[in-house]
Amino acid sequence: MGISTDVESICEEVIRRNPGEPEFHQAVREVVGSFAPVLDRHPELVEEKVVERICEPDRQILFRVAWDDDEGQVHVNRGFRVEFNSALGPYKGGLRFHPSVYLGIVKFLGFEQIFKNSLTNLGIGGGKGGSDFDPKGRSDDEVMRFCQAFMTELYRHIGANTDVPAGDIGVGSREIGYMFGQYKRITNRFESGVFTGKGPGWGGSLARTEATGYGLAYFVQEMLKVRGESLEGKTCLVSGSGNVAVYAIQKVQELGGKVVACSDSDGIVYDERGIELDTVRRIKEGERGRIAEYADAHKHARYTPGGNIWDIPCHVALPCATQNEIGKGDAKKLVENGCVAVGEGANMPSTNEAIRLFLDAGVAVGPAKAANAGGVATSALEMQQNAGRTAWPFEYVDEKLREIMRDIHATCREAAAEYGAPGNYLAGANIAGFMRVARAMLAQGLA
Ligand code: NDP
Repeated sequence: MGISTDVESICEEVIRRNPGEPEFHQAVREVVGSFAPVLDRHPELVEEKVVERICEPDRQILFRVAWDDDEGQVHVNRGFRVEFNSALGPYKGGLRFHPSVYLGIVKFLGFEQIFKNSLTNLGIGGGKGGSDFDPKGRSDDEVMRFCQAFMTELYRHIGANTDVPAGDIGVGSREIGYMFGQYKRITNRFESGVFTGKGPGWGGSLARTEATGYGLAYFVQEMLKVRGESLEGKTCLVSGSGNVAVYAIQKVQELGGKVVACSDSDGIVYDERGIELDTVRRIKEGERGRIAEYADAHKHARYTPGGNIWDIPCHVALPCATQNEIGKGDAKKLVENGCVAVGEGANMPSTNEAIRLFLDAGVAVGPAKAANAGGVATSALEMQQNAGRTAWPFEYVDEKLREIMRDIHATCREAAAEYGAPGNYLAGANIAGFMRVARAMLAQGLA
């Protein structure tokens, strides 16, 4: 049996053992699909079944979350925490609150997180969690009661040296505040390091809010530099209008790019003069409103309900909303329209077919686990500050973030070249991320 068949049979076995979880299957294929040359060169990894072990989470926690709304009606949601791998450090990864959340989503995110966290080289393992709770349209009090109910179970599984959650879709500083408060109340400990993404006044790091979006722009700038280009004068699309999207737009604009469109799950807004970030922030951060309101404030802008943002011609595409938002047809359209670089701000925003199409067309693809690693890297910097009971200035954290993104970019490029896939950042990220974890797993014995 050849080695490449081994990779295929490992994927098939994972799929068989985890039925009904297509997003997890997709993530495993995307990651493990890059491993053939590594396993070829390192037979000890095959013998020790390191790939099979890495595909099986250390622990999967599912629990009931019961809470009551403002009318006194009782709701029952499901909570998840998948502690995937701790070879490099405490489990680390965000919590997602969105009606689409189920075990398969949490597992795909947790699996990708292992390799992303490894790439940061900051000593963090991989995990992820969340709930099928939908915060949209809920009052602050309802969100607080939900967060308290969620944490009443989750608290027993987490800790600064065990498992450190953060935000993700539907979980921002408000939710983290409520969850941290409940953790503190139950344990009677002000344990800063148990959460990242905290408010800067009570243990949060400056620049953490901005970090994923900024880091994405830094990564894309590095990819363009390799091609003798930059973001200066480039037309860009940014999907979504949440945390990652907002700060990606800001940094791209600072670096000279022109973002002409962004979106939410209801529709897209197109502004040929360039998106006014202040308006987006007012709508999304201030009023928790819908992106449609952008066109009320800027009469020349066009709002399209539904709509497909990837139909708009651009040089650089930055998917910052959710998984599988770029399919094969979208990728084809982007290539036809002259797109030269894709930076994945969201996790797994491109299907595997879309990525293949981009790579065949010579488009530079910054894969999520590298391009959006700035968020978790800055979370690790927050943990460092908490451990030292100190707070660093914004510029200092931002400069560290920039360095980390440059290093991740270089690591991916080098690993891709070393293993026979020059220019393929996805292969490079998968291989480099995997090798660090695999070495640690071998050193720590069979588990
Ligand atoms: P937010 O909740 O702040 O924003 C999410 C945005 O994406 C919103 O505009 C939302 O629109 C849109 N969106 C969400 N789900 C869908 C959907 N099914 N279809 C269309 N649009 C959708 O989340 P974040 O910005 O934090 O996260 C965005 C992505 O970035 C996720 O994939 C996340 O995993 C990833 N990520 C986030 C990090 C972070 O630090 N926050 C770190 C690394 C990755 P609407 O309001 O209509 O739902």
